[in-house]
Amino acid sequence: MNEQPMNQAAAAITEHAYKKLITACQQAYPDEACGVLVQDARNGPLITDVIPIQNASPHRQRHFSFDPAEWIEVYYRIQKNRQTIVGMYHSHPATAAKPSPADLRGALPMDGCSYWIVSLTELNNPSLSCYQISTRNGLIPLMLAKIRV
Ligand SMILES: [Zn+2]
Repeated sequence: MNEQPMNQAAAAITEHAYKKLITACQQAYPDEACGVLVQDARNGPLITDVIPIQNASPHRQRHFSFDPAEWIEVYYRIQKNRQTIVGMYHSHPATAAKPSPADLRGALPMDGCSYWIVSLTELNNPSLSCYQISTRNGLIPLMLAKIRV
């Protein structure tokens, strides 16, 4: 059964940022890739860039955690460039693009952001799903709109 609401919310991303996201995940394979998605003040809700962050998990093929030093550096660079973090992503090298129980727990502090999972079970034919993070309702599926600019 499809229980998604008819007016399902969408996440909009530029073609450029989308390609960068997929490439970053493919390059990290067989490890999980992770990072953030940002928008510029002047482009409204459109995601215009993807910033990879080193995966510092000791079990990088099954988990991810942002490298703390790089995450701080990226965070301040984003502020300086007048961009806003609106989402985070990671890849699933060997499993479907569905959130794991650990993903659900880890996502909740980022209320209001989008949460992107790229599955590389077929390395050259990645599949992607994206969700809205809601402290109350967990991860809500979003439609994906790719925008050419
Ligand atoms: Zn995951």
